[in-house]
This record gives sequence, C-alpha cells and structure tokens, in this order.
Amino acid sequence: MAFSLNFKLMGIEIELHWSLMLLLLLILASGGIDAVITISILFVFVILHELSHSYVAIKNGIDVRKITLFPIGGMAMIDETSIPPDVEFKISIAGPLFNFIVVFLALFLQLLINDGAVGQILSITIQANLVLGLFNLLPAIPLDGGRVWRSIREKKVDHLKATVDAVKLSKFIVITLIVMSALLAFEFDAFGLLLWNTLIAAVIYIGSDSELNVAILTAAGRNLSVRDVTNFSPVLVNANLKLKDCFSLMYSINSPAVVVSSNPPRVLSYRQLSGIEKSKWGIVRAIDVAQICPACELNDPLLDAWKRMRSSDLSLLPVVFDGEIIGTISEMDVEKRIVLNRLKTLE
Ligand SMILES: [Zn+2]
Repeated sequence: MAFSLNFKLMGIEIELHWSLMLLLLLILASGGIDAVITISILFVFVILHELSHSYVAIKNGIDVRKITLFPIGGMAMIDETSIPPDVEFKISIAGPLFNFIVVFLALFLQLLINDGAVGQILSITIQANLVLGLFNLLPAIPLDGGRVWRSIREKKVDHLKATVDAVKLSKFIVITLIVMSALLAFEFDAFGLLLWNTLIAAVIYIGSDSELNVAILTAAGRNLSVRDVTNFSPVLVNANLKLKDCFSLMYSINSPAVVVSSNPPRVLSYRQLSGIEKSKWGIVRAIDVAQICPACELNDPLLDAWKRMRSSDLSLLPVVFDGEIIGTISEMDVEKRIVLNRLKTLE
C-alpha cells in the first residue's frame, strides 16, 4: 500500500504496514527511545517467527508471497488453499518452536552475561519470545495453535469439518479472552489491557470467519475446472485503443474488465481505469495502463485459477489454448459457480 516500507529477506518480500510505522512513531513520541528499542526487538522476532513458517512452507513446496507486519503481529501470505494436514502442522508449529528455541538460547547466554546493555537485551529477548511463542500457540484459528489443532483434527474428519470445529473453539477462546480481560480490567484498573485484548480478539474473530469461508469455498470448488466458468466469447480490445473507448465498451457489456490483446496478454480493469484522471482517458492507450496477467487453461483446477486471480488483484483472466486467447473467466462468475456448487452438494 501507499505508505508501507518493503524489503526482501530470503527472497520473501517483507512489508511493514503503515499502521506499524505510525505506532513506532507514537511510541517514540510518548515512551522515548527505550520503548522503541523494546518494540523493535519484539518485531525483529516477529519477522523471524514468520520467516520460520515461510522456511518450512517453501521446503514443502508451498509458495510464500510476502510477510506483512501489523501492530499486533505478522502474517505470512501463503496462497495455497489445499495444504496437506501434516504439512500444515509442520508450518504452523515452526513459528512458536523458533521462539522457544530462542528463549532457551537466551537463558543460556544469560548465565554467562547478566549485566549491562547485553544483559538487558537478553532479558527483553526472553520476554518477547516467551510472549510470542505462548500467544501464538493459543488454539484459536487463525493463530498457529488453532492451525495445529485443526491439522490434528483432520486425521479424523475432513478439512471442512475440522475447520468448523477449529472456528468454534476459536470463538470460545476469543470470548473467554474478553471476559477475563474485562474482569482483570475492573479488578486492577487495567483498561489499556482490555482495549488491547479486545482489539486482538476482534482480529482473531474476523480471521477465523475468513478461514471458514475459505474452507467452505475450497470444499465446494474442489471438482470444478476453468472450463466450467469460461466465457467463450472473450472481449478483446486493441492495445492502442484509448481508455475512453475501452470504458464505453466495458460499460455497454457490463464487464469489470477487458483483455488487451498484446503479447503477453494484459487485463484492463475498472481498478486501473479509476487510477487515471478522467480528463486523460482520451489520450492514454489501453496498453499504457493494462496489467500483465497470468493466463489459465481450460483444464486448470478452478481454485488455482481463482487464487492466481486474487493474488494478482484482477477481476478477469484470459483463458488460452495453443497460445491463443479463447475465452475469459471473471471473478464474479467463479464465485457464483462455487456458491451454486455448494448449494448443489447440500441437496
Ligand atoms: Zn505464527
């Protein structure tokens, strides 16, 4: 996004979300440099925690797009929707395991060095990793502990049922967390803690719902292929067509995007159009703003194509056969088809 800071580690893009940088500035302004050092150490270990997940994921052949850091923690963006349970177990446990290993190493080092700045940093390191390891092991999906729990449950039931159970447990934990924080807040006047825990609880609650949605859609879309939703009369526009005319066409056929016939194929969607001042639509050509897109083939699993569509942030993808564009699939059609398929399996 606009104000994020990005860099690469182990070939994975790390994004510091703007809200995190705002938080660091606020802490610097209110708590001074000591607080910033503490928070920075914490976030170094958050990054290493996420990299541990990513390392195990990549080792198991699963793509990790990027790691985004928010004020309440990090998230490795893993696009895969069908990770085998034993792999999910390994990926999920890797983060907390890393933190506990650091705790033991730091405790050992503390026996040798226990004073001065190094001793201080060691004790911050121990606390930070203990909190990270224990918090993430809470069995509340989408936290690591919840994923571990789901992967174990999947030995007995299918992925969807395991996710439904994990989400129930997650919501129970979220409610318990809020009730306990509220009791503590009234007992010890710790309203800051209550606010913080409520925020975290809300993030877990929303996150668990989206895990459930993904699981429902994955189950419903498993047997579908690109062929099932392909529109075989693709709308292709000339690369030199002006945005004004592209828009008229999109408007008249009620399509969120058109394919720009160039090599490689590109997609021009309303998202790119809205990024260009309307007064320039008469001058700018489709090829100038259209985005190079991944293509799909008729027999590709629909869920894979959908994943590619979402990770490239496009609402339409070309379907190719023998190097020729023979059709398109749109996000709306994919979602509609998956929902219909779900209804059919409920019969
Ligand atoms: Zn984790």
